[in-house]
Amino acid sequence: MNSMPTQLAHSATQVPFVDFQRQYAALREEILAAITQVCDSQSFILGPQVAEFEAAVARRLGVSHGVGCSSGTDALWLALAATGVQPADAVVTSPFSFFASVSCILRAGARPVLADIDPRTYNLDMAQVGDAVRRVTEKDGQRVAAVLPVHLFGQCADVSALLQLRQPFRDEPARYDFKIIEDAAQSFGALWEGRPSGSLGDAAAFSFYPTKNLSCFGDGGLVTTNDAAVAETAATLRVHGMRKRYFHDEVGWNCRLDSLQAAVLLVKLHYIDQWNQRRREVAALYDDLFEQAGITIPLEAAAMQTPGLVLPYVDRRGQHVFHQYVVRVGDGRRDQLREHMREHGVGSEVYYPVPLHMQKALRFLGYQEGDFPVAERAARKVLALPIFPEITAPEQERVVAVITDFYKAG
Ligand SMILES: *Cc1c(COP(=O)(O)O)cnc(C)c1O
Repeated sequence: MNSMPTQLAHSATQVPFVDFQRQYAALREEILAAITQVCDSQSFILGPQVAEFEAAVARRLGVSHGVGCSSGTDALWLALAATGVQPADAVVTSPFSFFASVSCILRAGARPVLADIDPRTYNLDMAQVGDAVRRVTEKDGQRVAAVLPVHLFGQCADVSALLQLRQPFRDEPARYDFKIIEDAAQSFGALWEGRPSGSLGDAAAFSFYPTKNLSCFGDGGLVTTNDAAVAETAATLRVHGMRKRYFHDEVGWNCRLDSLQAAVLLVKLHYIDQWNQRRREVAALYDDLFEQAGITIPLEAAAMQTPGLVLPYVDRRGQHVFHQYVVRVGDGRRDQLREHMREHGVGSEVYYPVPLHMQKALRFLGYQEGDFPVAERAARKVLALPIFPEITAPEQERVVAVITDFYKAG
């Protein structure tokens, strides 16, 4: 291991955090043909490709409806608004997510209430959610209209525990009637107890932003639901609340999915299973390589500031799609490790450096540092490594060698 630094210095391999060109090169002809078809039709807004894509995803997920829209952010808002979240309501979600998981609640006029996460999966800790729901309902006297679990990094949150929380106790009436709105932006194709993400709650939101595991050539999103009324309302809200042209039944917004984006998505939908399978293989190879390098540590050791990496935890009740492969650094040197990787041409990213309750824009919610210690620790320690279906084994070996070099050098 002592000779590693010199070997590394002489290696020219660059490993990008993500490389869209490789997927595009493989699908170029097919995608350009699909785009040409839309151009030739000159039907750009909610054309036949959008309806076809909505139906294809609904079929795949085993839900009755899909409603295409302009982004994951809009899909979240549409899902909340269409399931009846009102300005007087509270919605519980995670402080360890992308900003949109909270901003959509504010956009619906409701109050975001946060609950801390599970340190292994980084997903909502449902015991904490239960406490939050009870506190808001009983102490604040506010209705919790929805809980918004985020399936972070491609792994489903424990929706079973959430359903349990909503179950009536014995023969009592149900105490809580919150809707479950999945933020499935990072989890297309993931399963929970055999059922697809996006089919687990009352409605779900997908994003097809270019970095997502199923992505389009710009912004795009989709709401899925088994409730015909929710689908109908979401479809109306995305076109300014119009059911009949220029007759507005409610105040909606313009947030439609372009035919061009749907055409791209229809092509990519054929490949998503094989891409997700590749992502799992890439994750398994990283696991093996890090174990062989002898730099992995258990989660408990990370709490003691031990150098090394905690590998991603996979909850076996679900099937992960590894939208991201996120390790936790044991000691406090995450940013130094990132810099070392950058110097050696290896990309990385931090999802997310600032938990949502500590974002400047959300200060008015009244949370403080220390309120969600698990999320705060995660924000200081997580590091996402290069993962995409086309990454090669030599590239992964390079990533592991560079990280190993950092730890073996002290
Ligand atoms: C990407 C993402 C969103 C927002 O999706 P956009 O399409 O970028 O608007 C929401 N939630 C999570 C967890 C995301 O990763």
